[in-house]
Amino acid sequence: MQKFDYVIVGAGLAGASAVKGVREEDQEGSILLVGEEEEFPYNRPPLSKDLLLGDKTVGEISIEDEAYFTEHEVELELGTEITEIDPDNNLVTNSRGESYEYEKLLLSTGGSPRKLDIPGGQLEGANYYRYLDDYRSLSEGMKSANRAVVIGGGFIGSEITAGLNLNDIEVSMVFPEDYLLERVFPKELAAVVQRDYEDRGVNVVAGDKPVRFRKESDGFEVKTDQGKILQGDLLIVGIGISPEDDLAKGAELKVFDGIEVDKYLQTSDTDIYAAGDNAYFPFTDLGESTRVEHWDNAKSQGKLAGRNMAGAEEAYNYVPYFFSDLFDFGFEAVGEVNSNLNNFVDWKKKGEKGVGYYLSGDGKVKGVLLLGVWGAKGDARDLIKSEESFTREELVGKIG
Ligand SMILES: Cc1cc2nc3c(=O)[nH]c(=O)nc-3n(C[C@H](O)[C@H](O)[C@H](O)COP(=O)(O)OP(=O)(O)OC[C@H]3O[C@@H](n4cnc5c(N)ncnc54)[C@H](O)[C@@H]3O)c2cc1C
Repeated sequence: MQKFDYVIVGAGLAGASAVKGVREEDQEGSILLVGEEEEFPYNRPPLSKDLLLGDKTVGEISIEDEAYFTEHEVELELGTEITEIDPDNNLVTNSRGESYEYEKLLLSTGGSPRKLDIPGGQLEGANYYRYLDDYRSLSEGMKSANRAVVIGGGFIGSEITAGLNLNDIEVSMVFPEDYLLERVFPKELAAVVQRDYEDRGVNVVAGDKPVRFRKESDGFEVKTDQGKILQGDLLIVGIGISPEDDLAKGAELKVFDGIEVDKYLQTSDTDIYAAGDNAYFPFTDLGESTRVEHWDNAKSQGKLAGRNMAGAEEAYNYVPYFFSDLFDFGFEAVGEVNSNLNNFVDWKKKGEKGVGYYLSGDGKVKGVLLLGVWGAKGDARDLIKSEESFTREELVGKIG
């Protein structure tokens, strides 16, 4: 049986970043990186942006290529699923029944798309969008498509809708909230973005949800709760992800909305770490434990987990950001951008450019959303880390 100093399960962003982290601390230790997808690690954000707009090719989205892993002496097992961990004997086993022994193990297994539990919810061709293969099948379909139905009004649904619209495909977009991105955006901003979508010809079906998918000879038919019938040559669903924590559950690690880790990203088993979309971690500056499903978090947590597996013992106290592009609106956000918090927009140019603040009941800044305001993530982090209380008036003009 092969033995490795470090086994990393999940060859996405967190897994690839962990390789970097390990190698910063330990240039000699043996590393095995196992990934269920066939691809070398790649960035997912372009799947719903640059690739759809033709601004990048598939070849340009990889995180690291074969040469990098060869140079850093990393053994790769792509197209391989790990199905079991035996924490008592420090073993992982793959779907072919082969086992590997580890000194330290990282679970960077990310998340998998939530599926709709409705008639037709599992229809072949209904594209639950997350992986490069999903992009490949969408891109193939786009060549002959005139109409699409997109389910979900979060970032993935909103970005794909924009991408399809810019490719001259008529889109109906269905989601249960009153406004797209309502859970994230202050209402006044969500309303502005939604109006832009409608002005560009998107059929926004808000406050409704699909109750049935059907495949017709010429495409898909979606029936909604309010009785609308929508037709599309393409059907794309983006309704969120569930953390991939089955391996952790099987190994009886502590799990709560993801794999529980401490500030060192160590699970309840000291030889096993978790990082990225699957990790439920103490977010020090927000004073709570949470899980974050964003690129910057996966990158920085993955790297730190790698460093810590190699003995660094550093706490994760980074405040990650996320980004999105929706037509001409470009966003960056830091901290907790949750519209359930008290929030308002400090407009720099009404409807085009502004800063959204998200405050706790005692006026502490928990999150900052930057719309068209660039180079201000550091200021946003400082405000969150300050833990000072502010009134709205005091915040106006603070950033941007
Ligand atoms: C279309 C799209 C657009 C996005 N856009 C943005 C954006 O604009 N901004 C932003 O901040 N974030 C964005 N994100 C989110 C961001 O991409 C994720 O936060 C990030 O990819 C998480 O990285 P990860 O390594 O934790 O997990 P993942 O990327 O999910 O990678 C986990 C990998 O582990 C593999 N795996 C799982 N289980 C096993 C197993 N048992 N054995 C072997 N391998 C396994 C999976 O196949 C997968 O390849 C986007 C995501 C998507 C899907």
